[in-house]
Order: sequence, then structure tokens, then C-alpha cells
Amino acid sequence: MSLYQQELTAAIQAVRKAARVTAAVRRELVAGHSLEKNDRSPVTIADYGAQALIFHDLHAVHPDIPAVGEEDAGSLNDPDHAEMRQHLLRFVEQIDSGLSEDEVITAINRGNHSGGAEDRFWSLDPIDGTKGFLRDEQYAIALALIENGKPVLGVLGCPSLPVSAGSQSTGCLFAAAEGVAPFAELLSEPDTSQPVQTSATASADQAVFCESVESGHSSHSASADIIQALGTTSEPLRMDSQCKYAAVARGEADLYLRLPTRPGYEEKIWDHAAGAYLVGAAGGTVTDIEGRPLDFSLGRTLKNNCGIVASNGKFHSAVLDAIQSTGNV
Ligand code: AMP
Ligand code: MG
Repeated sequence: MSLYQQELTAAIQAVRKAARVTAAVRRELVAGHSLEKNDRSPVTIADYGAQALIFHDLHAVHPDIPAVGEEDAGSLNDPDHAEMRQHLLRFVEQIDSGLSEDEVITAINRGNHSGGAEDRFWSLDPIDGTKGFLRDEQYAIALALIENGKPVLGVLGCPSLPVSAGSQSTGCLFAAAEGVAPFAELLSEPDTSQPVQTSATASADQAVFCESVESGHSSHSASADIIQALGTTSEPLRMDSQCKYAAVARGEADLYLRLPTRPGYEEKIWDHAAGAYLVGAAGGTVTDIEGRPLDFSLGRTLKNNCGIVASNGKFHSAVLDAIQSTGNV
């Protein structure tokens, strides 16, 4: 039995619960067209709701483990946000009627830990890929446990991801921990576990690669040059969120490139901890564009890394060489 079994069970249950709140908000608020076009409040409500449920439940089981979360509840106190706060409480209550308003706010604010190299802490992106959430495309609930600066457990809830390539049915959960081989389950049905493994694609010219939909998050022009240098002819698989890591982990894609769009951007730990851990556990390799391992020990960002390359591990150095030779990132 893994040393992390208890944490893994709690993390999976928490992510499942959070996925119910994000789905409820999507169904009602986003799909309802009742909002102004550029109103991001539905995603904010779903983000807060997911973070509240996850940190409330994790704290109940592991009160000693602090948490780094993307959100804090500060802006909810703003009188202009009274309506948003009411929506939030209503959605959380639908999923867990036992939480008071104070408990919801306290749980959200548990995510204020500064991270670092000491001890252990949770890392959470309650909705990674907010643009995908709003477009009814891909988003992920990404939860990891980081111990002495290294992820040791990762869970990705992917509510809109097809259960297998091309399937109409959606909603997957991916999980792995030290001593627990990576597996995928249906998000709505526990005990449907299937092992997860990266692809066997042996050379870069055969690779299916994925990248962000948003060219502001990863340079599409730089990836096009690199892919051409590698001799790959396939079209990029563009998707939002850490579902890209899930695609590599389950062998649907062979490579995920995240290429800096501007100097000085520091990747956030919650955008990578769960996904990168999963790909590594499934047999792949994850580094930055200079081949350095991702360093999760430096606080809330990956300040010693630049960009991300996640591959099935079979031709990683060829990709790093192509990045250097094209020289435009
Ligand atoms: P993706 O779904 O791959 O487009 O990535 C979504 C994540 O990109 C968000 O969670 C943001 O934290 C992150 N992000 C925001 N700005 C940038 C940027 N300039 N470069 C890279 N990532 C960014
Ligand atoms: Mg994110």
C-alpha cells in the first residue's frame, strides 16, 4: 500500500466534488446566456466554488497540510460582488449543504500558502483553462501534493475530455502518486480504473503535438518552426488547460510544447504540478525548454524555469535540440 493512499483518496474525492460544482455553474450560468458577453463572473464563481469544496474537505482530513491555491476570497468582500457571493453560496450548497458562509470563505483563503522547499503542501488550480470553461471546451481541476519541493501526487479532473479519443462521452479523472501507478477513471463513476501510459511513438517526425489554444500563453509561431524542424507534418492539437498533460500521459499526444510569449513570465506551480507529475509517472519526460527539470521548490512560481516541454520520453532531447536550433524562443 502506498504511503500516500490516504492523501490520494481524499484528493480524488475532493476533485470529483469540485467537478460537480463547476459543471453546475457551466450548465446554469454560462449556458443560460443571462450574462453580459464579457462577464467573467461565472468562471469566478466556479473557481471559488471548486477551491472552497476542495480545501474544506482536504483540511477536514489533513489539517496539517497547508495549501497553495490560485484564488483568494479578498474580492468577494467587495460590495459590488454581493450578487456573485450569493450565487457562489447557492452553488456550493447544492453540492455540500453542510458548509456555512464563513466556512466557504475560510476554505477559499486556505490557499494562501507561499509554497517553497520545506515540508509538504497542496497545489490547486480549481479551474485551469478558464477560457476553455467559458467556450465549453477543455478545462481541468488540477490538484497536486508537493513534498520537499517535488510533486508526489497528482489528480486531474477533466470534465469535458472525451473518455477515449473520438468518443462522444466526456468526463475523465487521472491520478497517480508515489507507489500508485497512474490510472484514469470516468469522472462520474469511481471504480472504472484503467492504467495510463505514454505513447510508444519513437521518433519526433511521427509526433502528434499539443499546445494552448491561446497564442498569448504559448507561441504558436515558435512551435510551428520547431515542429517543422523536427519533420512533423501533423496539425497541432490545440486545447486549453492541463488536459494537454493528460493527452500526453494517456498516449493520445506525444508532445506538449509551451513556449514563452514574452521574457520574464513565470509559470505558476498550479498550472503544472499535477499534470507534469502525471506525465512523468506515465513514462514521459517533462522539462523546461532548456532541458531543466521543473523546480517546484521556489514558491508559487517556477521562477528558475522557462517554458515547458512534456513528451512521451522517447525523443525528448531531439525536441530540445530543435528548440535551440530554431533559436526563436
Ligand atoms: P492554457 O490553458 O494552456 O492556455 O493555460 C492556461 C494558463 O496559462 C492559465 O492558468 C494562466 O495561469 C497561464 N498564463 C497566463 N498568462 C500566461 C503567459 N503569458 N504565458 C504562459 N502562461 C500564461
Ligand atoms: Mg491555470
